[in-house]
Amino acid sequence: MVAKSVTIDFEFDWGSRIKSDYAITHVTEKLLQVFKKYNSKGTFFISTETLPNSEKYIKMIKNAGHEIASHGHNHTLDYDVKSKMDLYNQIEKSKKLLEDIMGEKVIGFRTPAFKRSRYTDEVLEELGFIYDSSTTKSKMRNRYKPMQYANSKKLIYVSISTIRDRFPSGIKWMNLFGTKLTGKKPYIIYAHPFDFLSIKDILKLYDKNKIPIHVLLFYTARIGSMLNTLANCIENSQTIKNIILQKNEK
Ligand SMILES: [Zn+2]
Repeated sequence: MVAKSVTIDFEFDWGSRIKSDYAITHVTEKLLQVFKKYNSKGTFFISTETLPNSEKYIKMIKNAGHEIASHGHNHTLDYDVKSKMDLYNQIEKSKKLLEDIMGEKVIGFRTPAFKRSRYTDEVLEELGFIYDSSTTKSKMRNRYKPMQYANSKKLIYVSISTIRDRFPSGIKWMNLFGTKLTGKKPYIIYAHPFDFLSIKDILKLYDKNKIPIHVLLFYTARIGSMLNTLANCIENSQTIKNIILQKNEK
C-alpha cells in the first residue's frame, strides 16, 4: 500500500486574501466526518492568525486523531522574501501558539502559498522542526518552484505530489484533472476549508468581500463535487508524522 496523506491548510478564506473564517466555521466538521467515514487520518497545517476563534476547531481536529502542524502565523503571500528575523518570528509564534493549545510538540511546517525562502531551512532547523511539507515537484514553474531552496541535511522534505506530471495535487486541481497521482511517494494531497464552500456561500462572501470574479468562476465551475473528490482520494490516508515514524522504524 502506498503511503499517503491528505493534508488540510487551515487558513482564512482564499488564502487569507479576505479575513473571513466562514469556511473554517462551516466546513471543518464536514471534513472531519469524511475522514471519519473512511477511517482515515490527515495532517492539518494551521495558520494561527485564525486564533482565537479557531481554537475549538483545532482541538476538535486533534481529538479526532489528526496531526496538527504549522502553516505560519499570518498567511501573507511573501514568505519567500521575508527577512530571516521576520520569518523566524512568524513561524516561532505559530509553533508556540499551537504547542500551548495542544500541550505537545509541533514537528511539521508548510509555508503559505509554497513560497520557501533562502532562510526557510535555517529557521525550521533552529526551531526544532523535523519535516517541511512546503516543497513541490510541480512543473508549473512560474507558480510552484520545484524544491526551492531545499538544501537541509537535517530536515525531511515531504513534497506535495503531482497529477498528470504537471499540476500540484491540490484537491481543486484533482477535481478538474483526476485523482491519479504520479511521482515520488508518499503521496501528499492538499486542500483548504474554502475549497469546499457551496455556490451559495461563495456568492454571499463575494457580495460581502469582493472576491475577484475570475476566482469566483474558477470555484463555481467545480461546485458540488469537491467533497466527492475528497472521498475518492482519502482512503488509507494517514498523518505525515505517522508516515515518517514508520519509515524510520524500517
Ligand atoms: Zn495556505
